[in-house]
Amino acid sequence: MPPARWADLAIVGSGLASGEGISVAEAWRRHDSAMAAWREGRARSTGEGELDLLSLKRQLAYELTRRCRACALRCGARRVTGEAGICGARAPEDARLANVQVVAGEEAFLSPTIAIWLAGCPEQCVGCLYKPLISASRGVRFDSGRLASVLAKMAAGGEVTSLMALGGNPDVHLARWLDVLVALAQAGEVPLPFVWNANGQSTRRSLELLDGVVSVYLLDLKFRSEACAKANGAERLALRRVAQSSGRPRRRTSRSSFGCSYGPAMSTAALGLS
Ligand code: SF4
Repeated sequence: MPPARWADLAIVGSGLASGEGISVAEAWRRHDSAMAAWREGRARSTGEGELDLLSLKRQLAYELTRRCRACALRCGARRVTGEAGICGARAPEDARLANVQVVAGEEAFLSPTIAIWLAGCPEQCVGCLYKPLISASRGVRFDSGRLASVLAKMAAGGEVTSLMALGGNPDVHLARWLDVLVALAQAGEVPLPFVWNANGQSTRRSLELLDGVVSVYLLDLKFRSEACAKANGAERLALRRVAQSSGRPRRRTSRSSFGCSYGPAMSTAALGLS
């Protein structure tokens, strides 16, 4: 299992003084420069009054939700003012914890993992097994520091190998995930590798923020059939226009989930067994 990379970033200087007022473009420039230094092994430790790189990533992730670009739908919801996006999520601080538990059924090298679900998903697939769990109105609001201490207790036995972010699509709540990692770092808890269990609907900016934080990306491929993928893409764009004009999130309808995902997946499994 790769090491917990996010813990490194919590002690790397960002070149930005805590509370320094700079433009978003300049904050990204400092981020990119600190990341380059970290990758090349010439990063400095955080200085007195300096923001660490993990906290700068968190700050930029909150910025992404101003006219939301946190996931590939880029629906532009003004989440910081409480407006809901297509995914149903509102302000990052209103994120809801849908479930947290130790799971032993993931890929062997990741198990057992502490799996954490935050509610809200842009996909709204008809056949989603988790829909009752992750619909945006479910779950409870949470304090990142308290969740961090619960996670630390769950990890205390030394048996779990990783922390796993799930959704829906965890990109929706990138800012809150970073909040939880910052809280874990500040508490000096044992750093567990962070696993991003997503559907690949990220943006370039969200991937740049995840860079250096995530140890393992675990991506679910939703559709094997090209026709289904195209149908979903077209529908998604139409949905985006409707949501932008009405300001209200809408549910996506989709082709039969059996024909588009379960059926092809079962055929593939059958090929493997024959
Ligand atoms: S669907 Fe949600 S996460 Fe994606 S851009 Fe819209 S508000 Fe942001």
